[in-house]
Amino acid sequence: MATSPLSLNDCRARDAADPLRSLRDLFTIPKELIYLDGNSLGVMPKAATARAAEVVAQEWGQGLIRSWNTAGWVNLPHKLGNQVARLIGAGDGEVVVTDTTSINLYKALSAALSITKEDAPQRRVVVSERNNFPTDLYIAQSLCNQHGYTLKLVEPEEVSASINADLAVLMLTHVNYRTGAMHDMAAVTAAVHKAGGLMVWDLAHSAGAVPVGLRDADADFAVGCSYKYLNGGPGAPAFVWVHPRHTDRCWQPLSGWFGHSAPFAFTPDYQPAGGITRYLCGTQPVVSLSLLECGLDCFAAAEKLGGMGALRTKSLALTDLYIQLVEERCQGFGLGLATPRNHAQRGSQVCLTREHDAGGDLGSGAFAIVQALIARGVIGDFRAGDGGIHKDILRFGFTPLYVGYEDVWNAVEHLRQVLETEEWKKPEFNQKHAVT
Ligand SMILES: *Cc1c(COP(=O)(O)O)cnc(C)c1O
Repeated sequence: MATSPLSLNDCRARDAADPLRSLRDLFTIPKELIYLDGNSLGVMPKAATARAAEVVAQEWGQGLIRSWNTAGWVNLPHKLGNQVARLIGAGDGEVVVTDTTSINLYKALSAALSITKEDAPQRRVVVSERNNFPTDLYIAQSLCNQHGYTLKLVEPEEVSASINADLAVLMLTHVNYRTGAMHDMAAVTAAVHKAGGLMVWDLAHSAGAVPVGLRDADADFAVGCSYKYLNGGPGAPAFVWVHPRHTDRCWQPLSGWFGHSAPFAFTPDYQPAGGITRYLCGTQPVVSLSLLECGLDCFAAAEKLGGMGALRTKSLALTDLYIQLVEERCQGFGLGLATPRNHAQRGSQVCLTREHDAGGDLGSGAFAIVQALIARGVIGDFRAGDGGIHKDILRFGFTPLYVGYEDVWNAVEHLRQVLETEEWKKPEFNQKHAVT
């Protein structure tokens, strides 16, 4: 039986009935803006302005060096790590917030390789996905070159066949940045362990976006990003988790003094701290860490309203609604869906494709359509295809902390108008900038 088309009023009614609606007030969302790019850079928690002033004027300005102790700077990587741990199914004391995702991946993958080198030296292959986020692949390439491993890149449907006797480490991003497709963390990890390999997860598009159970899945290593769904601010430090069975087995290669067992003993030899502390390297960006705390505090507020379970329910409702409305209202414009319809395989974003030559001389037009939407105040982003099986993508992230159902309606209405009027064909929307 066909359902009747949804209306703007239906969406407003859903906002009115949304049990998470009050969380939106914790954030600064510029007026008239529909922000669907929280998967690239999350919005600012309102508390961040006062916190920035406090950390700069008081803790730095007045406290100076004393603030390492008096303001708790030295504990920030662990304190915030414990807050992140609750969102990813890890235990207290198992996560540190530090460095960048790229750097943490370097540490985690190096450690994973040094463990498999010892336990299973005949395994010489690292597997990842060809359309994984490139920095992950670049880091893996460098490590494979250094240690004499082969990096094998596969399509998502080829992952399970690549889990075999040659596999040392499978390194996957849980939710794919281009398509929003999500792996079954528990099933993939179990298959890797059964085959005798180790599993490294990148949670860049998962932490704060979907429930994650690292301990339940018995994963080995994980890293992730905090400026996306965790709303930590531009360039906010990332996180790294290591299963306690592995933490003390080896050094991570960036053996800096913050990972030393007694950094202020200033001894010339490196003695790694026990546990996850050894995954720290040097002095941490205190201002950025402090602002990330404001983002994580919003999840503490969400905890009282049902936490990640409630956020997941809303996220799926938002992405379902977006897909439904695009299919009802934007038919005949060459759009396709790259994101899985199946809830169990979907992260918190929707990616639309456009046929390669749907815009004639202008190519797919996907880039220009996104630019035209941005000019109208609907912010998503564009990811280029490879001219082959990976098509150009219009990407929209739905952060359930602050995106509402009326936003979804309006975003689709703008898309419909941009396509119908062919506004996107204007020259100003077809100029590329450094950051897309
Ligand atoms: C966003 C993202 C990163 C970002 O890495 P940085 O070191 O912070 O630049 C890495 N990996 C994945 C999968 C991402 O989505």
